[in-house]
Amino acid sequence: MRSQYTKDTLELLLDRVPDYIFYRDLMGRNIYCNESYAKDFIGKPKEEIYGKTYEELDVLKPYVNVARIKDSEVIEKKKPLQYTQTIYLDGVKYTVNIEKYPTFDEDGNIDGILGRIRKISHAEELDKLKEGFFSNIRHEFRTPINMIMSSIQLLENRCEYCGLGDCKDCFIRDIHRIKLNTLRILKISNNFIDLTGLQAGNIEYSPDNYDIVECVESVCNDINNYKKFKNITIIFDTEIEELIISFDKVKLERVLLNLISNAIKFNHKDGIVIVSIIVEGDFVGISVKDTGIGIKEKDLENIFNEFYNVEDRLVKSCEGLGIGLKLTKHLVEMHKGFISVKSSLGKGSEFVVRLPKTIEERVNNVLDKIYYNRLEKIKIEFSDIYE
Ligand code: ADP
Repeated sequence: MRSQYTKDTLELLLDRVPDYIFYRDLMGRNIYCNESYAKDFIGKPKEEIYGKTYEELDVLKPYVNVARIKDSEVIEKKKPLQYTQTIYLDGVKYTVNIEKYPTFDEDGNIDGILGRIRKISHAEELDKLKEGFFSNIRHEFRTPINMIMSSIQLLENRCEYCGLGDCKDCFIRDIHRIKLNTLRILKISNNFIDLTGLQAGNIEYSPDNYDIVECVESVCNDINNYKKFKNITIIFDTEIEELIISFDKVKLERVLLNLISNAIKFNHKDGIVIVSIIVEGDFVGISVKDTGIGIKEKDLENIFNEFYNVEDRLVKSCEGLGIGLKLTKHLVEMHKGFISVKSSLGKGSEFVVRLPKTIEERVNNVLDKIYYNRLEKIKIEFSDIYE
């Protein structure tokens, strides 16, 4: 019954909460705190704490200034505030998450600050570090690579036209090697950024209605026209002429490039890669089949896991961090589709992406107008195939 919830009952309940909870007035005097705050954070009994500021209690000296600044911010803006801080309690280092909420009197004037301090667990802390680390990659890694790339392209163009005599061929070959390796690094950083972006829900799904047959066929043609890797021509086969469905073109092309580049990367010289389109009830299937090295039965279930690379790193013949398929699976699932794999060791593998045959109301995507350079994407995706 509600009437049983007296002030004492509530206080007892709050004393059971492991977070540090406090309430103080605008002068910083503690009006209320729970048992954890008193015992573990301040290190004094509640009665001694009430009515006193940090300074009067002579505790937590290194953190008082920050606490005051943050309190003033809450008072000034009249809005809740959240921040993390590293603190030492009994010589042990903790990262804490601090939340501060303004409270108001009947006239709407701010009259206090209610706060909660929570220790961040090791896993949470690691997650935060990971998030920060990956977002740093964007600037620290991708930006300079793009600068190098554009300088090389400029140089390459100039070399083509100016008469460097005997040096010209060496120059162009070296520039080509630098460019290829830059593309390899760019591929890794793009995959990292996109995977973490997807996991954090930061990547938008932008579908529109397109002809899936035309899209898959033109990706195959563009790869064939770009370069013949290991003397392999991609064979395109379809049982339908045209099928308009809704999908995100950029993301589906990413999926295709990953599957086709793997089909070549893990194939033999003069091997075969067949990309075909099949209609199966409510789904359309895109199959990428190769005659390559195949995948062991025990590895098949892990193949879509992050950083999974079935090759022994010490004897590996191909590059790759094992992010591509994980990213591919995420992208396919964004389409409410699914991906499956069949493989026979030494004979080859077949990856099938199945997408629902649905048509959305046109979203009028601006993508077609600002459509990116597919050739650049192909160059990046295929940069780690060694012949
Ligand atoms: P990466 O190619 O960057 O290592 P992926 O996630 O694309 O990463 O692939 C993970 C692993 O799965 C590859 O390293 C390879 O061992 C295996 N694999 C993927 N596709 C094929 C394929 N078509 N044939 C044989 N093995 C494959």
